[in-house]
Amino acid sequence: MKRIYSFGGGKAEGSADDKALLGGKGANLAEMCSLGLPVPPGFTITTGVCLEYLEAEAEKAKGTRGRWVPPGTPVEPTPLPEGLPAQIDAAMTALEAELGKGFGDASDPLLVSVRSGAAISMPGMMDTVLNLGLNDATVAGLAAKSGDERFAWDSYRRFVQMYADVVLGLHRAQLDRIVSEHRASKGVEHDTDLEAADWKHLVAAMKARIESSLGFTFPEEPRDQLMGAVRAVFASWNTSRARFYRRQNNIADDLGTAVNVQAMVFGNMGADCATGVAFTRDPKDGRRLFFGEFLVNAQGEDVVAGLRTPQPINREADPDSTLPTLQDLMPEAYRELHTVHRRLEAHYRDMQDIEFTIENGRLWMLQTRRGKRTIAAAVRIAVDMVEEGLISKEEAIRRVDPGRLDQLLHPTVAPGAARTVIAKGLPASPGAATGRVVFTAEEAVKRADRGEDVILVREETSPEDIQGMSVAQGILTQRGGQTSHAAVVARGMGRCCVVGCSELALHRDGSFSIRERLIEGREIRVREGDLITLDGSSGEVMLGDVERSKPDLEGSGLSTLLEWADLLARLGVRANADTPEDAAVARGFGAVGIGLCRTEHMFFDAERIGAVREMILSDDDASRARALDKLFPMQRADFLGIFRAMDGCPVTIRLLDPPLHEFLPHKADERAQLAETMGVSLAAIDRRVEDLHEFNPMMGHRGCRLGVTNPEIYRMQARAIIEAALDAALEGIDVRPEIMIPLVGVARELELLRGVVISEADAVFARREATVEYLVGTMIELPRACLTADRIAEHADFFSFGTNDLTQTTFGYSRDDARFLAPYQDPDIAVLPQDPFVSIDAEGVGALVAMGVARGRSVKSKLKVGICGEHGGDPASIAFVDGVGLDYVSCSPYRVPIARLAAATAVLEAAG
Ligand code: PEP
Ligand code: MG
Repeated sequence: MKRIYSFGGGKAEGSADDKALLGGKGANLAEMCSLGLPVPPGFTITTGVCLEYLEAEAEKAKGTRGRWVPPGTPVEPTPLPEGLPAQIDAAMTALEAELGKGFGDASDPLLVSVRSGAAISMPGMMDTVLNLGLNDATVAGLAAKSGDERFAWDSYRRFVQMYADVVLGLHRAQLDRIVSEHRASKGVEHDTDLEAADWKHLVAAMKARIESSLGFTFPEEPRDQLMGAVRAVFASWNTSRARFYRRQNNIADDLGTAVNVQAMVFGNMGADCATGVAFTRDPKDGRRLFFGEFLVNAQGEDVVAGLRTPQPINREADPDSTLPTLQDLMPEAYRELHTVHRRLEAHYRDMQDIEFTIENGRLWMLQTRRGKRTIAAAVRIAVDMVEEGLISKEEAIRRVDPGRLDQLLHPTVAPGAARTVIAKGLPASPGAATGRVVFTAEEAVKRADRGEDVILVREETSPEDIQGMSVAQGILTQRGGQTSHAAVVARGMGRCCVVGCSELALHRDGSFSIRERLIEGREIRVREGDLITLDGSSGEVMLGDVERSKPDLEGSGLSTLLEWADLLARLGVRANADTPEDAAVARGFGAVGIGLCRTEHMFFDAERIGAVREMILSDDDASRARALDKLFPMQRADFLGIFRAMDGCPVTIRLLDPPLHEFLPHKADERAQLAETMGVSLAAIDRRVEDLHEFNPMMGHRGCRLGVTNPEIYRMQARAIIEAALDAALEGIDVRPEIMIPLVGVARELELLRGVVISEADAVFARREATVEYLVGTMIELPRACLTADRIAEHADFFSFGTNDLTQTTFGYSRDDARFLAPYQDPDIAVLPQDPFVSIDAEGVGALVAMGVARGRSVKSKLKVGICGEHGGDPASIAFVDGVGLDYVSCSPYRVPIARLAAATAVLEAAG
């Protein structure tokens, strides 16, 4: 099998289609080369070779496991797969020929970068080595060629530092300390104040430290350097941070990384050199502008590392910046870059994230990849690209992950909210977040585990901080630009993030202050644990908990995308809504009906709970009837409100479901007051409460079991629904009530209760001399209901799967306190792939759903079937129920947009 693919000089052995083999970076370098774009030549070692290497490494580990190894014994590196070194040598010889330079040639050395590149981008997670090929001899050649001795020695020391860290495994701080001590001894603050002689001295000092710490000398031979770097990049696939990132992002562990070896170009060789990162559209909001940042006289990683504040590539990218732009400083190179960005976007038909370097005025492209973007940008770009004729509507739908739409619906700082802004940084990832300040990722994790909302405040973030970032509500950094690690990672995670907040002064005692700013005459000191609010859209940092509000979706492009989605989707999307207000919100989000109105939620209202308790606790028919008479007009008014809000749409109203204990008075004074209202003794009330006690109420006297034993409750509710429907119809409203019986397990339960509802409705129709169409159906939320769905369907106009209870009763897990679900999902234990109350358990609960649908429809082929458990708003569950032929899903109002998009995605995915 071919192990090495070369690229350069306008031709390449691979292409963009070879991502699995060459990784994203390698495949796109090959593609850019074939497009004739200026790419430094090089070659890619395939992911397959990485897997060979990792296998050998695992074998070797197996061999030493359990054996005692004396401390300090050097660990022999796993050798590269057989034959690979010779193949790398051949590729290097070809590269030397192409460039007319020699690897290790002291007069005109070929220097290379060695970079990782997996099939799926894992930014900053794996290792890179730059300037490889430098040693005590070749550094002189670089100095001569560049005419800049300081540059050559600076490049050399960067290489030694990077190589020691990445390949030799020496802690970075060890060499950093040598540099900072030298700076201090010379009385200078910045690296830029050091000269060639300083770096020369420091390189020697660093090498000496490497030797004393590791017990071997720094490899001088470029070939040895290269083989070591290739090994290190392969091994970096399995660092703990890379594994964590993969787990977070559902990336398989068996893909491996490719290694890209590429001729170096230098962005740090003088004032006519630069390096930068750009996006072909704005990754924050998706606007069609060429957006990017660069640094003059800097090397690749400097922009991403965020150590210097980058400059905008053009004015459009940052109208507020006073710094000169690339367009101002290097108009020729900018013009070419502009042309390249247009070509890349037209070619890939997607927003690209590109890296470039300008060496002595000449532009070089180092990378292009699909640009990460906020969900707002994803929607905007997808819709715009359809309108620009670049992609189809289906493609636009495929490109927006329904699960991320949640972020679009995230809060923002309420427009008129009182706020004390203490600082302003760069708005890196939108949304607003409030939390307690923490300064380390570990503290973030600790507090988040206790259920606290935290804001992670760092000088800058690095991949080590990823766990802390993932649990934080928001991230604030003192340094770094829009393309810094913090910005890119937060955007991907949908976390609110403010970066480059240079006014921040971080103190060792675990606090920060704001430079040169007094608020109300005082210096601001924010300590660990204090509350702050971030606005990731404006960059503002505010004291305390600032009021936030839901976003405005107008103009986001989302409604257009969702209209296209609706045309494609098979599933209708309804909402679970209990009040006219919720119903209106749901309609605003595009719900085509109410799939579940939980009537008991209306019972908790302060005005009603007394009457509900009277109803439950009365032990004679007359007093129960009195209590129901109090509730009846209130219920009728509730239903009328919902019918008005849902004119023309079906409204599924579920009759009383929860166990009665949920409504009982727990406090003594509440019970005393109830005794007085009901005209009975407190002892009588207490006795009744005692009587109703159940050991396992969720499995007890609830749902239709209440309806069967106390039909007067369901009678009252049925009457209220039918009367409200008639009232609504009189107002000219197109009303479509669907009355739903919960927790049916035996067909006879439904048969009885359907009779109750119909007789009540008939009585109302006779009295009012008017009728209205309505349906009577059932929830399917018990395994027995699924198994006997054919019998149940005989009495049902529709089924609605209550997958919350169905999951509870199928697994036998209490939905209220299954605390073992988190450890069950731990990858090391791996009992469950995910929380089955969040995403449907396809093989168990899902099989019952499929059986329920099939058996129900075996009796009534057109039986309408929906789902109204929490799974109705979960994209994976939506795809599942689309597959088993449901007619609709019902979810909370704010999840309606997610469900609409997921319903369309399900159709596209099913089609392949
Ligand atoms: C269900 O069980 O899935 C359901 C929707 O009902 P509830 O959550 O009210 O029990
Ligand atoms: Mg239920």
